[in-house]
Amino acid sequence: MTFKDLNITESLLRALDQKGYKTPTPIQNQAIPVALNKKDLLGLAQTGTGKTAAFALPILQLLAGAEKKKGTSRDIKALILTPTRELAIQIDECFEDYGKYTGLRHCVIFGGVKQKAQTDTLKRGVDILIATPGRLLDLIGQGFISLREIEYFVLDEADRMLDMGFIHDIKKILPLLPRKKQTLFFSATMPPAITTLSRSILYKPVKVEVTPVSSTVDTIRQYLYHVDKPEKKNLLVQLLSKEKNQSTLVFSKTKHGADKIARVLCKAGIDSEAIHGNKSQNARQRALTNFKSGKTQVLIATDIAARGIDIDQLEMVINYDLPDVPETYVHRIGRTGRAGHSGTALSFCCQEEQKLLKDIQKLIGKKLDTLSVPA
Ligand code: AMP
Repeated sequence: MTFKDLNITESLLRALDQKGYKTPTPIQNQAIPVALNKKDLLGLAQTGTGKTAAFALPILQLLAGAEKKKGTSRDIKALILTPTRELAIQIDECFEDYGKYTGLRHCVIFGGVKQKAQTDTLKRGVDILIATPGRLLDLIGQGFISLREIEYFVLDEADRMLDMGFIHDIKKILPLLPRKKQTLFFSATMPPAITTLSRSILYKPVKVEVTPVSSTVDTIRQYLYHVDKPEKKNLLVQLLSKEKNQSTLVFSKTKHGADKIARVLCKAGIDSEAIHGNKSQNARQRALTNFKSGKTQVLIATDIAARGIDIDQLEMVINYDLPDVPETYVHRIGRTGRAGHSGTALSFCCQEEQKLLKDIQKLIGKKLDTLSVPA
């Protein structure tokens, strides 16, 4: 199957070719025909499966086609709602990349920064708006945004929205959307609250599902180190010194821990930066840009800050601390081994994390291979 077989139009094919996308991923194969058919979609897919293009391409194509017929009106016609600023920025970049030959305008808004640049762009008129819930409601309240002309609505990472406490914001946003619209709903997991939410907003949806959250991608090699807690930092320095030039994302349970790890690594001469909620949006974005460009080798992140971090060909993920929720393990290591690339995930487990390890292994249905700590 190619993108052409999926009836993707020339202007988008040209952009995809430049991105180096040769074949659609499974979620794209399944979701694009449904979305182009103007049907509501319930997509069970986690980050890393190519789900952004699965909704961005049909929306761009349908909007570009309609614009040709009707001529330009600069009302917002597509709304993508996503939980974090990082994810919002990445989705916006995807619309930029895929839609560069369509003439459509897009804009991203999120909190934690001044609103002027965002409202200036909105005033010039946009077709596609990518937003986090809080800033969207804020700017609607101030009269900068109307959702009355929305034809396409994407709710992205619905389960994370719920985890992050956005359900009330979403419930405020939903009634502001027109009744008649196409809705594409994406979630990595389907806990009961998400099923209820999806039922309340989707009309006869087609369900598509790829790599359920309990299964980890085969292209990721997963290993485990049993290590005493105080020895974790030495192990990390040892491993990273061996793997110079390898982009590595390290997960820390706490913000304080992330800063501490960054200090230890920098002292050992390993370029690293930490991102977490206590840092300003600019500092987070800068750290992400440095990491993406290869300027810093190691990024240390908390789970919230790492949501949606999208780096092409990230080679290694290290769980410095095991996550409390086993599903988070799957999300974390899904940052590597993307779109067919291979990757490595290493986990450090100390005595008090044994129970967490047991839960993770139960969820993924296999035992992690143990490596011995280098002397
Ligand atoms: P996503 O799940 O949307 O965050 O996408 C994960 C990664 O896969 C991103 O880095 C995309 O650029 C990349 N990607 C998406 N679709 C394709 C494709 N068809 N071929 C190659 N890479 C892709």
